[in-house]
Amino acid sequence: MDTAPTVLQLSAFLSARSTFRVSSVNSTLMTAPVSRKAKFCFSCGDVIESHALVCPRCGTAQPTASTPSASEKRILPAFLLCFLLGVFGAHRFYVGKIGTGILELVTLGGFGIWWLVDIIFIVTGTFRDGNGNKITEWT
Ligand SMILES: [Zn+2]
Repeated sequence: MDTAPTVLQLSAFLSARSTFRVSSVNSTLMTAPVSRKAKFCFSCGDVIESHALVCPRCGTAQPTASTPSASEKRILPAFLLCFLLGVFGAHRFYVGKIGTGILELVTLGGFGIWWLVDIIFIVTGTFRDGNGNKITEWT
């Protein structure tokens, strides 16, 4: 009976510690300048500087400044164009994919299938612009 309060106190202490640890990790992630000036290593997937020519971790040469990590195009206009005029390839003209835009126009959105797939890709942030960069920002 004597040890019961001690065990309770210990577990309370441990849970308080782990809570503190989680919140401190979160605040570190919030303040880390990751989104704009970082990219993922072409080879190992580690987060590295966007202008790094070689990954400091695995040493693999990176696709250079001509292929920045994020597109300057936005999801919201791409989605609206795709939703309203997608069967005419409007969203592809918007992101600079002229060739496949014409193809989508001619086939009326790949008879609806291509159009549907594009909407899903756009909304999930995996649609790529004419430079091959993912469009990840909504506005
Ligand atoms: Zn790497």
